[in-house]
Amino acid sequence: MSHQAHWLYLDLNSFFSSCEQQENPELRHSPLAIVPMLADSTFCIAASYSAKAFGVKTGVRVGDAKKMCPGIKFMVARHDVYVRYHHRVIEAVESCVPVHSVCSIDEVACELTGSQKDLTKARALALKIKLALREQVGAYMTASIGIGPNALLAKMASDMQKPDGLTVITASELPQRLHELKLQDIPGVGRKMEVRIQAQGVHSVEALLKLNESQMRGLWGGILGARMYRLLRGEDLSTPAYFHGSNTPQSIGHEHVLPPVQRNLNDSLGVAQRLLVKVAVRLRQARMMARSMKLLIKTLDGLNHERRISFDETQDTSFLMRELKKIHSELAIKKPLKIGVTLGNFIPENEHQLSLFNDEKKNKIFQVVDSLNSKYGRDTVYLGAQHDFRTSAPTRIAFSRIPGLDEV
Ligand SMILES: [Mg+2]
Repeated sequence: MSHQAHWLYLDLNSFFSSCEQQENPELRHSPLAIVPMLADSTFCIAASYSAKAFGVKTGVRVGDAKKMCPGIKFMVARHDVYVRYHHRVIEAVESCVPVHSVCSIDEVACELTGSQKDLTKARALALKIKLALREQVGAYMTASIGIGPNALLAKMASDMQKPDGLTVITASELPQRLHELKLQDIPGVGRKMEVRIQAQGVHSVEALLKLNESQMRGLWGGILGARMYRLLRGEDLSTPAYFHGSNTPQSIGHEHVLPPVQRNLNDSLGVAQRLLVKVAVRLRQARMMARSMKLLIKTLDGLNHERRISFDETQDTSFLMRELKKIHSELAIKKPLKIGVTLGNFIPENEHQLSLFNDEKKNKIFQVVDSLNSKYGRDTVYLGAQHDFRTSAPTRIAFSRIPGLDEV
């Protein structure tokens, strides 16, 4: 029915490696992987297309990458460089069309308006953006662009051709156009969700599209399922109901009464850290970023001692952990009875202003860590700062974020 396009989604190809190849001419002619540190035991964070041709990708152990791909070069990830390129990419895109949302460090969604909705014009716009990237950012900055009736389908279209792709999905091609895809090609369907879907006897996107709205609600556990049902049929739900609905959480907290043996300064910190890890996982699952943290300590005499701090929006567990340690030592409660940790003042992940803080790459890496851990099992990957914490805290860090509705 509708032959118009409403959204354009841009995904930079192998962004971290492309930035490095743009910066260092000597890296342009060999396969390249980006790593957290130069050690065979760590895992690749990203790989260039020529490294991907040898099977090297995110999550491959560095030692294995060397065997799979002789001559591969490694670069230690550089926050500042990628953030700088990110801003240049946004600027280049904005010289062609306004950016509606920054979905991650290398992905943006743009809403098409007026005559841009015309398919021929939308395609021309995509080509103009590609040219702007090459001319204003650099020849190594290629992107796969998807055009579709909503941001979810535009993102799925951007995944269909890599690198340097341009794919259009129109409402009139739905749902057949999606039949060729695998369940995990749907943003929001990670390994866990796939298992859940398959447990219902649904093994393909084609079968998923035969479910009715209430079956979809059942699968996703509520509103998200209804949303997915409509999005896959091309409805344009440009406002993320998930974030703006009445049940958007404004804070997430956990508390714990200490057993008598732990009613001391040291153990109460360990418990507070454990609570924070749980809260931070829920924060990321809700796709929120927090701007405040509260530590509440109740003592045997019935008094409440609390400390609340504010910061730029973050999901970064290691940052929160440092701040928690500070306020815990400032409160210095010697005989704690009950501990509570709450994160608050949320903003949706896809609305945060990158320019407000410069830790974006770290957030991206946390997401990579989360998804590696959910793919290969808990505790596969740790960031340096978490190392101490892992050995001192009784509960393992269980990242279980399903790579989600980034963009919708
Ligand atoms: Mg990308």
